[in-house]
Amino acid sequence: MDEPSKRRLEPPVRPELRGLRGYVPIVPFARLAELAGVPVERVVKLDGNENPYGCSPRAKAALERYDQAHIYPDPDCARLRAALAAYAGVPAGQIVVSAGSDELIELATRAFLSPGDSAVICEPTFGMYRFQTEIAGAAIRNVPRADDYRADVAAIGRAIDARTKIIWLDSPNNPSGVATAVEDVLTLLGLGPLVVVDEAYFEFSGRTAAALLGEHENLLVLRTFSKWAGLAGLRVGYGLMSVQLASLFMQIKVPYTVNGAAQDAALASLEDAAYRQRVVGTIVAERERLAVLLEQTGIVGVVRPSSANFLLCRVLKGRAKEIHAALQHQAIFVRYFNAPSVENCLRISVGKPEHTDALIAALKKVVPE
Ligand code: PMP
Repeated sequence: MDEPSKRRLEPPVRPELRGLRGYVPIVPFARLAELAGVPVERVVKLDGNENPYGCSPRAKAALERYDQAHIYPDPDCARLRAALAAYAGVPAGQIVVSAGSDELIELATRAFLSPGDSAVICEPTFGMYRFQTEIAGAAIRNVPRADDYRADVAAIGRAIDARTKIIWLDSPNNPSGVATAVEDVLTLLGLGPLVVVDEAYFEFSGRTAAALLGEHENLLVLRTFSKWAGLAGLRVGYGLMSVQLASLFMQIKVPYTVNGAAQDAALASLEDAAYRQRVVGTIVAERERLAVLLEQTGIVGVVRPSSANFLLCRVLKGRAKEIHAALQHQAIFVRYFNAPSVENCLRISVGKPEHTDALIAALKKVVPE
C-alpha cells in the first residue's frame, strides 16, 4: 500500500463525464489569420454562419452609449423581452432571454434530462445537442435524417420510450439548410417529450413553429441574435415556450448571463427593422448567386436548396479534406465534414459578394481542370 502522503486523491468527478468527447468550438479570427499568414482583414471567414456585414449601426451606437458596466444587468431582460414579444408575436411571459441559444440548450437539459433518460437527435445536426445531452448523463438516440435531410418523423416515433425526454431538431437544419415542415413538428409534439425546434436561422427561412405554442406545452422554440443580427460575439439568444416552462427556466437559470451591453445591442437591433430586411435580403440573394457559381465550377455540388445562410456542398472533384486545407492556405475558411450522410462535404457560409468571388477563384485554383 502507498504511504498516505504519496496516495493520489482523484477528485470524485461524475461518472457520466468520463470519456466525454466535448464540443469542438470555432477557431478565433486572429488565429485563422495566423494560420493563413495574412493580416486579419484578409481572412475570408465562411465557417461560422455569421453575418459578414456585422451588426446594425443602431446596435453599434447603443454599445458606444453603454455606461452601466459597473452595475448588474437586468436578470429578466424586461425591455428586450417586451420588444421580442412584439417581434415574435408571443407574450413576454413566454419568452426567456439567454446567453446565446446555447444557454437555453443547456437549460433544457438541466430541466429535463437525468442520468438514465434519453434524447433524440437527428444527425447530421448541430453538435451542441449531443454535447449537452451527454453532459447530463442521458443517452443519445440518433435517428439519422433521410436522404433529403428531412427529419424521419416515423422513425423518431419508433425510437422513443417513456425515458425519452427531449427531441432536438434544428430547423433549418445545420448543416444541410433544410427546414422542418410544421406538420412534422405537429406529429412530434403528439409523441410526448419536449420538442426543441431550434430556429437559429429563422430570419433566412421565414418558417416558424411558434404558432403551435398556444396548443402545445411541450414545445420550445429557440432563436438567436448571432446570425441575422451579427451579434454572435455578444451572446444573446431567446426561447419561446409555455408560461410554466418560462418560469421554471427562470428559476433554474444563473441570473446575470445576458450582460447589459448585449441586452442594449439586441434591443437596438430589433428596433432596426430596415437593417434586418436589407441584410437578410442581401444574404439570401447572395446565397442563390453562390449556389449557381459553385455548381458551375463542377468541383462541388450543392446538396439541397438551403433555407439558411450557408450551403452544404459535396465535393465532386478531389477530396473535401484537401480542398479545405488548400483553401485555408488562401486565407479562406469553410467547414469540413466527413460523417455519415455528410461524407466528403464542405459547409460554406454566405459572405459578401467579394467573398463569393474569392472563394470561386480559389476553388478553381486549388482544383485545376
Ligand atoms: N443552433 C444552431 C442550429 C446553430 O447552428 C447555432 C450556431 N452555430 C446555434 C444554435 C448557437 O447559437 P448561439 O450563438 O445563439 O448560441
